[in-house]
Amino acid sequence: MMTGDQYVESIRKMKLRMYMFGEKITTAADDPILRPSLNSVKATYDLASCPEHADLMTATSSITGKKINRFCHIHQSADDLIKKVKMQRLCGQTTAACFQRCVGMDAFNAVFSTTFECDKKHGTGYHGRFVKYMRKVQEEDLVVDGAMTDPKGDRGLSPSRQADPDLYLHVVERRPDGILVRGAKAHQTGISNSHEVLVMPTVAMRPDDKEYAVCFAVPADAEGVFMIIGRQSCDTRKLEGSRLDVGNCAYGGMEALVIFDNVFVPNERVFMDGETDFSGMLVERFAGYHRQSYGGCKVGVGDVLIGAAALAADCNGAAKASHIKDKLIEMTHLNETLYSCGIACSCEGRKTESGNYQIDLLLANVCKQNVTRFPYEITRLAEDIAGGLMVTAPSEKDFRHPEIGPYIDKYLRGVAAVPTEDRLKVMRLVENLTLGTSAVGYRTESMHGAGSPQAQRIVIAREGNIEQKKELAKRIARIGQK
Ligand code: SF4
Ligand code: FE
Repeated sequence: MMTGDQYVESIRKMKLRMYMFGEKITTAADDPILRPSLNSVKATYDLASCPEHADLMTATSSITGKKINRFCHIHQSADDLIKKVKMQRLCGQTTAACFQRCVGMDAFNAVFSTTFECDKKHGTGYHGRFVKYMRKVQEEDLVVDGAMTDPKGDRGLSPSRQADPDLYLHVVERRPDGILVRGAKAHQTGISNSHEVLVMPTVAMRPDDKEYAVCFAVPADAEGVFMIIGRQSCDTRKLEGSRLDVGNCAYGGMEALVIFDNVFVPNERVFMDGETDFSGMLVERFAGYHRQSYGGCKVGVGDVLIGAAALAADCNGAAKASHIKDKLIEMTHLNETLYSCGIACSCEGRKTESGNYQIDLLLANVCKQNVTRFPYEITRLAEDIAGGLMVTAPSEKDFRHPEIGPYIDKYLRGVAAVPTEDRLKVMRLVENLTLGTSAVGYRTESMHGAGSPQAQRIVIAREGNIEQKKELAKRIARIGQK
């Protein structure tokens, strides 16, 4: 396994093509806006080298028999699924941000089982290729961006019926040694910090969408791949040199629009090409794993937010008020409910035909449906407890100013024993998590990441088995009986 520092160096050596604020950059490692997001991924390496976290952060590879980072693992049991959620909570607690490496892990497990079943039906050879690819990922301890979401254009039209054929990523040419693909993937978490990108289709497809049913992996710096980094609220504060104003200066997350401009993929890296009947399975399995993931990562970040709200109350002397205590209880209740869902869908996990473990789909979708709501309520309560100062506090420069600084120190102090600076730090952390750069990962991503709410309701409707419930009610009501 790589150390965190080796990981950073490995990313620095890559020739990524990235654009931000109209300028070209080549690495996140030396960029003040992107570096905190790299640090969050680095934490997945650093934590894996801590002996006290070895049980959660590492696993024994089913492919090589060696010790690997759990983020590269093919889950072998329900216990592995539970440990995955616990690992994500730990990483969320450590970074208070999106640590990005889960999308690859979730893609590995979905592609692993889907290629097996596809080969069985169609006689294709994808599974063996994918296992070979996973061996490399595990041995080199790589970060892989799992790329699913196409831009999608007109939502009322299927991939092949779009006015612009590139709005879903597709095969443009087949050669004896591989395929040429074109298109884009949107909202790509962690792509600037990834060694590789594993592309999957984004919807279930019909036979005429054949060119769009494609799954493959390429290095993130492959010829023709480039990324346009997304803006985040308050992102340029990181350029101002104030640690205090940023709120979470060490860690962050990142997303980008990734363009695949006629990218060549050699055959050994193609894991689906035209098998439209397996596109839906791959999407559903990946989404299921990622909806489970949110029962871990969001909970860990939620732990930090609850702590920040409690600290805010300590700072202004309100901690003993019964309504504050009650709000903290409510936040904890909501956060632990999310965790319960993440653990439950893992406990109910089952073996797939390929031998890896898949979460319970109904419970994972219930997990994510709750995630589309509860972090918003936790955020509302955190803002309630923090007070308006979280959005009205002056800058660090004013606080350090020799003439006006002492006034800020005097008038923005809460309880006498807590330095004003500490109170301001807590305010900025609440701001960062609810409105700032980390709000991308904690708030809006809770709504749309791993699929928007309606996507979960479709699975809940199908898996909820209303007909069976009607039968239960009929029997108790003695309908059809004398
Ligand atoms: Fe992992 Fe959560 Fe970020 Fe998704 S949102 S990559 S599950 S930390
Ligand atoms: Fe996500």
